[in-house]
Amino acid sequence: MNTGSLPRSVDVCESAETSRLGETLARLAPALEHFNRFEGVDPASRRRAEWMTLLDTPLPRDGAGLDTVMRELAEVVIPNGVRNGAPGFSGWVTTAPTTSGVAGALASTVAGSQRAWIHAFNQLEGTALRWLAELLGIPPGLQGLFVGGGSVANLVGLGAARQHAFERLGIDPAKNGLPPGGKWRIYASSEVHHVVMRAAGVLGLGRASVYPVATDAALRLDVAALRRCLDEDRAADILPLAIVASGGTVNTGAVDPIAELADLAAERTVWLHVDGAYGMFGIVDESVAPLFRGVERADSVAVDPHKWLAAPVGCGAVFVRDRALLGRAFTLEPAEYLEGNVTPGPLESPFDDFGAPYHHYGVDQSAPSRGVQVWAILREIGANGVRARVARHNAYARLLADLVRADDRLELLAEPVLSICCFRYRRAGLTEETLKELNIAIARRLRSESRCVPSTTIVHGRFAIRPCFINPRTTRADVEELARLVCECGDAMTR
Ligand SMILES: *Cc1c(COP(=O)(O)O)cnc(C)c1O
Repeated sequence: MNTGSLPRSVDVCESAETSRLGETLARLAPALEHFNRFEGVDPASRRRAEWMTLLDTPLPRDGAGLDTVMRELAEVVIPNGVRNGAPGFSGWVTTAPTTSGVAGALASTVAGSQRAWIHAFNQLEGTALRWLAELLGIPPGLQGLFVGGGSVANLVGLGAARQHAFERLGIDPAKNGLPPGGKWRIYASSEVHHVVMRAAGVLGLGRASVYPVATDAALRLDVAALRRCLDEDRAADILPLAIVASGGTVNTGAVDPIAELADLAAERTVWLHVDGAYGMFGIVDESVAPLFRGVERADSVAVDPHKWLAAPVGCGAVFVRDRALLGRAFTLEPAEYLEGNVTPGPLESPFDDFGAPYHHYGVDQSAPSRGVQVWAILREIGANGVRARVARHNAYARLLADLVRADDRLELLAEPVLSICCFRYRRAGLTEETLKELNIAIARRLRSESRCVPSTTIVHGRFAIRPCFINPRTTRADVEELARLVCECGDAMTR
């Protein structure tokens, strides 16, 4: 057969490798399962020089072939991956995915590699968004969107807020940009996550436009202080762009008074955005659910399934009340090569229609199907499974606080609200500065020499060891071990 100018070998070689998917994945499985047992103390840091050298190689001129890739993945890459899913890991707000989420991500990588068009994965975006909203007390009418994480979820929510505020002045900021010389503000507590400031920067509003409102003793936004700010700013002709309520701060888990903020936002016709990236899943635990009252009145809500739900990282979501407004803020505009291909009429091919048009509601065009991961996890464990996990983790933080209170070598720095417990080792007679250095050293030693890896923060000016329990693999024994190890380390260092 005449194959024209196309060399036959290229064709044959590439298709042969793609058909080896099952066999190839089966070869990775033992390395992944071994990794997931998280045996011993993290070995990667000890072997760092070795694997860094192996992985820092020049661009190969000729390919080494699939077998080599599989061997290097299994022998060099996976064993030296990040062990943030290990049971003793309680740092920051991150963990590794559970199996159903991994399977969902794999399935979408292979079979749902674009969320657009008419297919099961596009459908599952909608199903998973609907399930998430129902789980989290977000009313059904809001437009949901899966995004890469909390950073983009907040960006999209605040992008909609920007559209709302300026359209009321007869300005379309998405189309024409921001008015020169204008003054505006976003109000958030001084404990708000830094991605909110970055979002303001990216949206052209300026990081400095995020006004840090004072907090109360429990580090919640002080509504009376916000009211005063709004009054002063009104007199100074400063446009109130949005109020951001933290639905669980990353430092201590404080939940701003969302219901009071919703009242104030309604009274002043200001957009209410809730950053629930970490804490919003707390609402499923009846013991803390009342803290989230008012979220149903928010104009936008950011949540992060890749945190407490343990979806694979790269899975955030945002919900925005006004779908049309969201579309005006983020539309891609019709493009010849996109919509131009699609003629209305009966569906004869899955490519005759883009399905739910998520690409008009955020900042990605091509995007993976992330809903399937959330669907897989919720299908597996259900709302009750999430409730049991969240309640268990919140109880771990309270258990740790009890252990801290019961030991006079430890000091509780913030009463747990959700699953974060901030505490420190202490010794009578040590200055604040020495206590800080001592606790930095303790955290450092735990990270390098033990199974327990908490992170740290500053609470009311004091340096705190800060575990955040969102990891499905963590047990009560890990919590008790953390308290014990902090004491042992502190004792050893002050002896
Ligand atoms: C994690 C977090 C973010 C940022 O989310 P990413 O998924 O890391 O981008 C924002 N706000 C809060 C409250 C968070 O906990």
